[in-house]
Amino acid sequence: MYAEVAFPISSYQTFTYQIPVDLTDQVRVGVRVKAPLGRRTVQGVVVSLTDKTNFKGKLKNIMALVDDQLVLDEQLWELLHWTSRYYLTPLGQVARMAMPRSLSTRYHPPKCQRVVFKSFGDDFDTLKKGKPAQARVLEKLSAVKKPVMLADLNKLVSNPADICHKLAVQGLVEISSEIRYPDATGFSFDPIEKEIIFSESQQVIIDKLSNALLEKQFFPALLHGVTGSGKTEIYIDLVRQTLEQGRTAIMLLPEISLTPQIAGRFRAVFGETVALWHSKMTSAIRSWTWKQICGGQYKVVIGARSAIFTPLRNLGLIVVDEEQEHSYKQESPDPRYHARDVALMRGKLCDSVVVLASATPSLESYYNQIQGKLTYLPLTERFGGASYPQVYVVDMNQEQEDTGKMDQVFSGLLLEKIQDRLNKREQIILLQNRRGYAPILRCGDCGEILMCPNCQLSLTYHSRGDVLQCHFCGHLQRPVPDLCQQCHSVNLRLAGTGTQKVEDILLDTFPQARLSRLDLDTTHTGKQLTQTLRKFASGEIDILLGTQMIAKGLDFENATLVGIINADTGLFLPDFRAGERVFQLIYQAAGRAGRHKKPGEVVIQTYNPENPVIKHAARLDLKQYYNIALSERRELNYAPFSWMVRVEFHGAERQKVEVRALDCRRQLQAVFPGLEILGPAPCYRERLRNNYRFQMVLKANKTKDVNGRLLHRFLQKNFTGVVIQRKDAKARMIVDIDPVSIL
Ligand code: ADP
Ligand code: ZN
Ligand code: ZN
Repeated sequence: MYAEVAFPISSYQTFTYQIPVDLTDQVRVGVRVKAPLGRRTVQGVVVSLTDKTNFKGKLKNIMALVDDQLVLDEQLWELLHWTSRYYLTPLGQVARMAMPRSLSTRYHPPKCQRVVFKSFGDDFDTLKKGKPAQARVLEKLSAVKKPVMLADLNKLVSNPADICHKLAVQGLVEISSEIRYPDATGFSFDPIEKEIIFSESQQVIIDKLSNALLEKQFFPALLHGVTGSGKTEIYIDLVRQTLEQGRTAIMLLPEISLTPQIAGRFRAVFGETVALWHSKMTSAIRSWTWKQICGGQYKVVIGARSAIFTPLRNLGLIVVDEEQEHSYKQESPDPRYHARDVALMRGKLCDSVVVLASATPSLESYYNQIQGKLTYLPLTERFGGASYPQVYVVDMNQEQEDTGKMDQVFSGLLLEKIQDRLNKREQIILLQNRRGYAPILRCGDCGEILMCPNCQLSLTYHSRGDVLQCHFCGHLQRPVPDLCQQCHSVNLRLAGTGTQKVEDILLDTFPQARLSRLDLDTTHTGKQLTQTLRKFASGEIDILLGTQMIAKGLDFENATLVGIINADTGLFLPDFRAGERVFQLIYQAAGRAGRHKKPGEVVIQTYNPENPVIKHAARLDLKQYYNIALSERRELNYAPFSWMVRVEFHGAERQKVEVRALDCRRQLQAVFPGLEILGPAPCYRERLRNNYRFQMVLKANKTKDVNGRLLHRFLQKNFTGVVIQRKDAKARMIVDIDPVSIL
């Protein structure tokens, strides 16, 4: 017997090996093996088995198996094949991305002790008087009903272990030792004891999806529900049904460390069958979790984009929450896959229900729903009928004229409303989608802007640490120069506004307010983030200030004012999705206000009040804006009206890069009708990380190339073969299928 093996190298070729007799039973398609490649021993994946070979010459033997269990079932294997073909990435490379490096890594999850209530005993009153700490613990446990980790009681009493052991001796509680499963976020949630009775509109959706689950057929749907409409409760119910059928579920979140609340709610309901999967896991925990999933101990996986490749068997349900989020797209390395699209393909292969969900769907999914490719499930009302917020748009040009002050960060109206909430002891969320202190250090005389030497992008000034930083490559410049490098003027000025500057102004203006800032600079770990969110939830913080990471998925009862300090951020970037993104951000942020009984208000500050993006976002009029955006896309032949591919060339020498790009363009003369080629042209960020960048954008109109086959055949022929080598150290080429941005 012979095996074809793919290796994680940038070659599309596979290699033939002989299977030694003692491994014949174990070598199957999809297993990982060690085999000699050149002079090295390399891990590869068996792609196919045959009993004949055309190979002339001496064949080498497979040396050993990497894993002691079969890791991929047929559908998952098929999915990797599809990913490889669709995203033009060698199969071995896809397999490496989708699997942990080695499954043999030893990881032993620590044990932990849990305690559960049994009874109050015969004489609780005496206990209460004599041993108040014991009584407190007992009362808490009886309220919670489920086992609680000893460590979680340390807010209640100082020595929970001691006290629980004393209670156990009296037979009032029971202590058990359990394996403690790795927790991705460090966020444990008290089980929520809440009775869920679905509203009529929730029930309609659940019924449709339950039917689909019962039929066990591919069923793709778009759940379009405003924030707070009860989508998460629907997911929870669907997962419950899926598990009852003996099947499994994947729930994708845009960035697990940013959505601890949802993860917490799932853990609270499904307990230890839930695995969390994300990029910040250590490789040991990753391997261990992977193994548990293979073994069937985990039945629900919640995670960021790569969770879509986890080896759950019998997959019944995939939920993609906030499906419009760009973090679902892998930007590098290859394969540059989009987890939402992979989810749809996996659903198709596994006969699963796939729910794409959002308050602000991507234009693609919105369009697919119009086309009937996704079943549309609208949820138009907020749960419990909480009212929509009142939105105020402040024209900052007018503000400038009225006050005579330039570059005001806060309008009079926003300041007034902040003060009002502070007086009423209600909470405030402020969005400023730019971190650092000031985005630009500019010479007041010649206008020169301080740039990153690697990227040719403006450096951002950070007041903490008194340093300039490039937000693309991380380059740090210290000390901050005090002379203009161009004209030697001392007249250097900070321009623009980042979160740190806003923070300073707030501290000055409202010295008594308790303020917290959330952005990449303050949340290096998931823990810091969850701590801040917890404090905000419990009312220890009055004002939460942050970048886009505060705009989504958070649910706070007492937050009744949302301020968007500069709604125009990103509006004029030369990207076909710029408007869509700004719209979604404003719309989502506005949804943070008054989600519960208290009515909410939103203040949007802008220099472009007439811009359709701002105008419709402020009216919370999604349909109208999406219609405008779709007709623009149609006119310009952008996705979703065309299949798009971005081809980037980069390297250290500008000329080499440009020559190769032009060369590639010339080789693409075999253009089929309906294929439009833009460029090559320098990228918007022409220099990034010491590289020069050029790009071409290919657009195949969908009326001419209905299912993208023409384009795909074209790409296979031109980009994977010998015609254009993808590796050329002087001018490397990247092929990005369905780009989320062309910046
Ligand atoms: P979304 O995910 O759409 O933002 P959630 O599922 O988080 O909305 O629901 C918002 C709030 O309403 C949550 O506190 C949730 O527990 C509650 N809720 C939603 N549906 C119900 C229901 N049927 N019964 C009770 N509470 C509900
Ligand atoms: Zn100057
Ligand atoms: Zn840089």
